[in-house]
Amino acid sequence: MTRIGECIYCGKRPPDVELQDEHPVPFGLNGNIVVEQASCGDCAKITGRFEGTLQRDMLWPLRTLLEMKTRRKKDRPNTLPLSFTLPDGSEVEHQVPIDEYALLITLPELDRPTFFDNLPPSKNGKVRFHWLGQIGNVNAVLAKYGAVGVKWPAKMRPDSYARLIAKVAHSGAAHLGYYGQFVPVLTPLILGAEKDPWHWVGGEHAKIRKPPTPDLHIVDVKWQKIRGKEYLVAAVWLFANLGAPVHYAVVGPHARA
Ligand SMILES: [Zn+2]
Repeated sequence: MTRIGECIYCGKRPPDVELQDEHPVPFGLNGNIVVEQASCGDCAKITGRFEGTLQRDMLWPLRTLLEMKTRRKKDRPNTLPLSFTLPDGSEVEHQVPIDEYALLITLPELDRPTFFDNLPPSKNGKVRFHWLGQIGNVNAVLAKYGAVGVKWPAKMRPDSYARLIAKVAHSGAAHLGYYGQFVPVLTPLILGAEKDPWHWVGGEHAKIRKPPTPDLHIVDVKWQKIRGKEYLVAAVWLFANLGAPVHYAVVGPHARA
């Protein structure tokens, strides 16, 4: 465990603030690494809000089916909704028992951070879905409900997703012992003050599919020379065990520069 002693997001220290431990990957996604004494209450509230949005809106069918942690047991349902398209074109929603449920697993695939290639801000098209396979059997569920199509209740939250990648990168770098060696650039995005999430955060150009690993999530950092200057760059690989796309975030330039 790494112990920091100041808020890694706003820099405040005791006795001005009370510090709490920080999970770089949220507890709700089974994140098991902890940075001790690394977040103040105000910043924890801000990060907790977009993490909650993601876990409720975008990731909850996946989390439920993978039986991920929840602080409140009642949040884990026995059924999940599916909205079916019937042969006559009408739509109907059913609550489907978890053990009969089927889900196409898609996770976001991102373009490279625009900073890497010195590109102007990009508005759209940063997030695509990357199909990873299915849990259960979608065709069997369609047959059972006499449907020709199905929609899942998950909602894409690209901005919250970018903030999560930024938060995992920044706090992951702190966990790996780099706090103080870089000038932070991700904190405005993490705290909600940055309008362009894709400057420092993104994915890979080529659609390289990395094979699944035994680890659920992998966070790694390394120094990288970009246009002649050293930057700490984090690779954030959430759901590595499912073979999800790898994301990158520039954590910041070297502090000595
Ligand atoms: Zn703070």
